Amino acid sequence: MQDLDSRDVKYLTGVGPARAALLASELEVRTLSDLLYTFPFKYIDRSRLFHINEVDGAMPYIQLKGQIRSFEMRGEGPRKRLVAYFSDGTGVAELVWFQGAKFIVDRYRPGVEYVVFGKPSMYQGKVNISHPEIDPEDKLNLADMGLQPYYNTTERMKRAGLNSAALRKLVENLLSLIVEPLPETLPQWLIDREHLMSLTQALKAIHQPHDAMELRLAQARLKYEELFYVQLNLARYQSDRLRRFKGFVFSRIGEKFNTFYSTGLPFSLTDAQKRVLREIRSDMGSGRQMNRLLQGDVGSGKTMVALMSMLMAIDNGYQACIMAPTEILSEQHFANISNYLDGLGLRVELLTGSIKGKRRQSILEGLADGSVNILVSTHAVLEDPVQFFRLGLVVIDEQHRFGVAQRARLWRKSDTPPHVLVMTATPIPRTLAMTLYGDLDVSVIDQLPPGRKPIRTSHHYSENLTGVFAFLDCELAAGRQAYIVYPLIEESEKIDLKNLQEGYAFICERFPQYAVSKVHGKLKPAEKDAEMQRFKRGETRIMVATTVIEVGVDVPNASIMMIEDAHRFGLSQLHQLRGRVGRGAEQSYCMLVTPGKISDDTRRRIEIMTATCDGFEIAEADLKLRGPGDLEGTQQSGIAFDLRLASLARDGQLIEHVRHVAREIIDTDPTLSDQQNIMFARVLSRLKKSPIDWSSIS
Ligand code: ADP
Ligand code: MG
Repeated sequence: MQDLDSRDVKYLTGVGPARAALLASELEVRTLSDLLYTFPFKYIDRSRLFHINEVDGAMPYIQLKGQIRSFEMRGEGPRKRLVAYFSDGTGVAELVWFQGAKFIVDRYRPGVEYVVFGKPSMYQGKVNISHPEIDPEDKLNLADMGLQPYYNTTERMKRAGLNSAALRKLVENLLSLIVEPLPETLPQWLIDREHLMSLTQALKAIHQPHDAMELRLAQARLKYEELFYVQLNLARYQSDRLRRFKGFVFSRIGEKFNTFYSTGLPFSLTDAQKRVLREIRSDMGSGRQMNRLLQGDVGSGKTMVALMSMLMAIDNGYQACIMAPTEILSEQHFANISNYLDGLGLRVELLTGSIKGKRRQSILEGLADGSVNILVSTHAVLEDPVQFFRLGLVVIDEQHRFGVAQRARLWRKSDTPPHVLVMTATPIPRTLAMTLYGDLDVSVIDQLPPGRKPIRTSHHYSENLTGVFAFLDCELAAGRQAYIVYPLIEESEKIDLKNLQEGYAFICERFPQYAVSKVHGKLKPAEKDAEMQRFKRGETRIMVATTVIEVGVDVPNASIMMIEDAHRFGLSQLHQLRGRVGRGAEQSYCMLVTPGKISDDTRRRIEIMTATCDGFEIAEADLKLRGPGDLEGTQQSGIAFDLRLASLARDGQLIEHVRHVAREIIDTDPTLSDQQNIMFARVLSRLKKSPIDWSSIS
């Protein structure tokens, strides 16, 4: 009886084969347990009655008590409807049905006291409720009804009569079967310590709460459990990894590092860069394998940190490798790194998909015999023939573009895995990082190199860009360069977007005295690169592009970023794009262009962009506005979708708390074999069968 997991929902009273099929196809509810864990999406307080004269159309749901005065058929054709005039002494409301008139007239009688429940609207100055629920007053005990749960259903379900009320009834039937407590999923000591409801109590209360207080406690318990097991899994994963893999020990700071530090470094490091380097050094010297995420806003100087970390590897007799998501970026890294390391006697090579033949062969040999010290690459390095002699450190730039599977392939390249430093300029809010990258240690460069002028950001309407173009005239005349970014590359009939091709034609016409580059994702890498190089050398002064220029491209003389149809971009994308400018000494500008009519949501985003340049602030705001489902990284893990109650955006404090608890448990009992922790191991192994791909999270 108690094994709800294995009991088909078909045999529950009120279900049967037809409804079971619907439940499975529409809600993925197949077992009793699935149904039990289908939680209401909202609750409506049905203990409260309203008077008709206090109702307005903005109220979500209301309940009235009174009598039907009379019925009337009104309208023609599809507008034909039955109207009941309903009075409670303070006014008259019109109850409206577009179907089932005969049934209603037969069933409800004028002069009887009814309780009416529904969503009010105002129609020609009168309160209107269409298709209300009606119950005879004496059949309802309002004081007892409390919060009514509402369940999500689909159109197909509704057509088959399986609406929220019907689901509520099914859940009621199910709950009545649960006479003994269900097996707990948290041990009693933790339940006691955290003052949580028992599982059985919580599951009952979340479907049938007596009051708001009880509902809150039930939600708290179930949220706790969801988040706790995510964190426990991550903690165990990390602890397993640390026990299983030894890391190379980079015990010394050697000649190359020191020489570079004293003679090659073109600027002094920021405090944040120094701190992060210390963190990396201590990781790589610890004997554990480093798995560190380095977050730093665009322009914060991550490349230098990567470079100096690679020197540490080299000084300890190992090779290092840095990978970027695009060829343009890897070429840029290669140019910078070769330049910095000039005279140090190191062999730095670039390996991308377009390097072929003899050149490629020579690099591959150099990697295998150890004569190549630093490899700069794209994911081409992951192709199988690429073998290293002693790979000690891998730096992955712009991680959010880098597939998890690719990282795993890299991993398999050696018996002792190399240290891994993942860098990203997409700041990830703390709660999200703790959940998505719970297995990574996190370093943050929270400081920009000195002397940077904050980028000035402004908002403009596409209907009037005269001023913007006049400003562009001035800046271009002063020798600067400008990016103009469009969201799409080809005309789509459905979406009214200015497209790149049109934009390019327009810009060429508007600025005839300047050469204009055009770059988009459909160009061949070589063409794209040639165009980028032209812009970088200043041969073209305006770059019309899609978001391919988003990450990492460095053109210090470019001081203007104009983003067309800015409302089509997410906050972090806007922030990334803005980071393309502000890299030189000149004041830089970011101009966000939208149509005059924009949604409140867009307005909020634009306001945030014009108010701050702080990537973390923007990421937090993004998480709150969009929810974690849309943020980079969450899709691949699927984790945000599997949380039923908890929210990565809102439950930050709880996440921190349960993470702490989970780590404490794993620290004292890494294999979860203590008697009091047995239950954790059992629940975790059940979770493994869930759709979350845990291996993708670390
Ligand atoms: P990102 O973190 O976006 O990858 P980069 O590593 O490309 O940033 O650095 C951006 C620019 O800042 C580069 O031109 C780099 O030379 C410069 N830079 C990095 N660190 C410093 C520093 N400590 N002082 C001055 N300039 C720096
Ligand atoms: Mg970078």
